[in-house]
Amino acid sequence: MRLALAFRIDRAMPRRFTMPKSLLKTLARQCRRYTGERYQKALTRLAADPGAPPIPIASPAQAQLEAEVLAGLGQGWVTDSHGAPPTETPFALTSVTPLPDALEVTVQDIALPDVITALLPTTDEQSNTSGIAGLRFRLQPSGVELTRLDLPGVVRITGVTPAQWWQAYAVAEADTDVPILSGHHPDRMHPAEEAHARAYCPGYSPRHDEPRDQALAALTSAFLRRHMIFRTPEVTSIDLWSNPDSLEVEWFGPLTHTQAVTDLCDPVFGLGGTPSKDCECERHSWCFVIPVITDPVFGTCVALRHNRHHDTDDELADNLRDDWRRKHRSERLSQMERWHGARPRTQR
Ligand SMILES: [Zn+2]
Repeated sequence: MRLALAFRIDRAMPRRFTMPKSLLKTLARQCRRYTGERYQKALTRLAADPGAPPIPIASPAQAQLEAEVLAGLGQGWVTDSHGAPPTETPFALTSVTPLPDALEVTVQDIALPDVITALLPTTDEQSNTSGIAGLRFRLQPSGVELTRLDLPGVVRITGVTPAQWWQAYAVAEADTDVPILSGHHPDRMHPAEEAHARAYCPGYSPRHDEPRDQALAALTSAFLRRHMIFRTPEVTSIDLWSNPDSLEVEWFGPLTHTQAVTDLCDPVFGLGGTPSKDCECERHSWCFVIPVITDPVFGTCVALRHNRHHDTDDELADNLRDDWRRKHRSERLSQMERWHGARPRTQR
């Protein structure tokens, strides 16, 4: 409570207000639970703008890009097959560093091909497009920068060397069996990609830039910037999808509704939402979804789905077995070894 009070007072202060070092250190330590950042990185970020919220709100265009990134990573449980269990890297990420106009993320090496497959756009002979339309990459000394053609917003995958990137890229291209457009059309959209973008994609299609869409994008970005609260041994699997007014998050394992709601509604680090019902898990087995409303005008909410019954789902239980994961991990490692030193076909 003291921390919340101090932060609220500070928000009203002019930007030149100097926050006590001890408070900055406390904020940095607590922030790590939400972002997974290294302590020093969180501290440096907070010290650079002590008047800003510890987890800053993304600008609208940045939020839109982050929403697409999380949608891509959330579908198909990106790391369940080849990477580390979501216990360690929910949605394939090991940390997020939130900035107003950028998001820096770190990814485990082994999950990088899955991240490339999930995010970078491809199109097949029937003009079916997958990935984020318009997304292109640029290699930088500190990692890889992902931006959309002609739109603001950037996601940086930090700590990746060019060699690691090209190796993962080659594995991803072998996996998808269709060209990755970022490599073949680095400066312009493929015609099929452009048609898809104009019809369906926020930023390119005015139909998908309505205030309701923007509210959901803002929530999705805010969730991505805090989702490391699910990096805990108490979560064995996590899945995510969205509806027009809601971001649906479902997890398996003993992490309770109460804990997730408490974290996400925290006055300093939370999403700024309110739970629309109380948890009744202790009394009723049917307590499954708790919506946390973040935009009362549109009813936008994150629906927190705690699935306590996955033991009855045989297929899922099989997929979560450690030996299943080990097998796929070892297959992915040998595949990456085969592509060691690879360069993309178009840029050799
Ligand atoms: Zn509950």
